[in-house]
Amino acid sequence: MKKVFILPLLLLSYNKGYCQQWSANTTPTYPELIAHLQQLDKQHREIQLYNMGSSDYGLPIYLCVINGDKDSLKTFIKARNNTTILINNAIHAGEPDGVNASLLWLEQWISAGKPTKNRDGQDLPVIAFIPAYNVGGMMNRSSKSRANQNGPEAYGFRGSAKNLDLNRDFIKMDAVNSFTFARIFHALDPDIFIDNHVSNGADYPYTLTYISSMKERLAPSMQMLTYESCIPILREHCQIENFELFPYVELKGATPESGIVAFNDLPRYAMGYASLFHSLSFTVETHMLKAFPQRVQATLSFMNSMIAYAIGHSQEIETARTAAKDWAKNQTIFAYNYQLDEKQVDQIRFKGYEAIYPEHPITGLKQLGYDQKQPYEKYIPYYNHYQAKDSTSVPKYYIVGGQEQALIERLESNQIELTRITASSIKTIEVSSFIVKDYKAPSKPYEGHFKLQNLQVDKQLITLELKPGDILIACNQDKANFIHAVLQPLAEDSYLTWNFFDSYLQQKEYFSPYVFKEQIAEILAAQPKLKEAYDTRKRLDVKFANDEWEQLYFIYKNSPYFEPSFMRLPVYEVY
Ligand SMILES: [Zn+2]
Repeated sequence: MKKVFILPLLLLSYNKGYCQQWSANTTPTYPELIAHLQQLDKQHREIQLYNMGSSDYGLPIYLCVINGDKDSLKTFIKARNNTTILINNAIHAGEPDGVNASLLWLEQWISAGKPTKNRDGQDLPVIAFIPAYNVGGMMNRSSKSRANQNGPEAYGFRGSAKNLDLNRDFIKMDAVNSFTFARIFHALDPDIFIDNHVSNGADYPYTLTYISSMKERLAPSMQMLTYESCIPILREHCQIENFELFPYVELKGATPESGIVAFNDLPRYAMGYASLFHSLSFTVETHMLKAFPQRVQATLSFMNSMIAYAIGHSQEIETARTAAKDWAKNQTIFAYNYQLDEKQVDQIRFKGYEAIYPEHPITGLKQLGYDQKQPYEKYIPYYNHYQAKDSTSVPKYYIVGGQEQALIERLESNQIELTRITASSIKTIEVSSFIVKDYKAPSKPYEGHFKLQNLQVDKQLITLELKPGDILIACNQDKANFIHAVLQPLAEDSYLTWNFFDSYLQQKEYFSPYVFKEQIAEILAAQPKLKEAYDTRKRLDVKFANDEWEQLYFIYKNSPYFEPSFMRLPVYEVY
């Protein structure tokens, strides 16, 4: 008898100590965090800690799962078949609010007796959190890298071991972390995804703001679920938890008074990536000037509100996700290049601080500040609508050249269904081929890439000779949105823009003018249309008429001597 009583008592006092610790102005180091979770995993059958793979630092990335299956091997099956929330912490390791909030949630859940049902008998979802995703950033600890942030005392760095911002890496996958994330994500197929951050920017009274996925990019059922069901209910739950939920303050101009803008969650970001797979996705941004313990409490409240929503609306969430997957599978048009619609403006009631411009005693200049002694509450413009500027019809299949191993590895790690062409498969096929006509590259790198911009791409029908190892990707699959987002060359985060095909943008062979000019008579005789075009241009373009190289290159480029692979992408559409 004694033992039964002693254990919970010990547990309670042990928890209390930790609760106080996680509520203070400190956050654990990576080794402390993992050691603590390993201890919980040992003590509680209901808490499972998994090593999910490496990070670019070399240490593992873990996943902590609450309310999984008793048989830990079946936990991921349970997650995929039931309502599941995935929470990602410390992708920016200088923003560890989610780390502490998750630990507090665990301690409180243990103290409450680890309930897996609420009072009405409804089930707790499977709750999974990545204790700290940016392992390299966690290991690079200081008290200075977040210049404007109010605590904790010490914290990690934004960049990963490779100095990458992991929250831009979900498509290009330069960090090993991104492959581990894909493994975690697809093993769980989370219904809800939360990425925890701390903001920078304007000063205002809200402790926590949220970013939800751009509604125009979502499947209709997920748009309804996010904006008609989830957000209004979260707002109510948060009010009960005693704080006001407000959208992220992304400024249109210099201050909030000139309006705020809904965030365009491109696929490169964690939540944009999760949205491609129809997870109900949120980024949480606590406000950097609020004290760390207060920010942690707000993050915990948001988490509690989301769990409460998941418990009460599990069926609705599952139904919406199934409908979204069907929608993606049967899509005939893929829209991209979303731009803010500046003409369609809503109004939103905002609590702010008056912007002031005092002269600084050192710089001697009048610069923007916010006066907390002058709070206001008023309607401000809310730019909350986007429009897709481009779209394309969806092919039946894509074909990708088997030589594109880095690309294929990324498709496979995202569990895209694909078929490899074998020696006995079909030999030739009519395809639509992408030819790059023009592009610009920036002069400075962005996240390790000279990401291509201002792209112009033409399509050309050709007969393609397939080779063993080439891959065939059917578009009627659940994950079609990911496929289009990376393979459609003009999509915002396509593999073309992220430099996967740069080698095709360089010509490999040229000619020696003194030899080639002896061949042009024969070429022009064999191609009367080319001769006509050449003659016309020579007649109308004085510069051309006086430039031998220009003339020879024009004929060369339009002759059979010119390499067909130049500017042609190794990605093809089959209609
Ligand atoms: Zn962040």
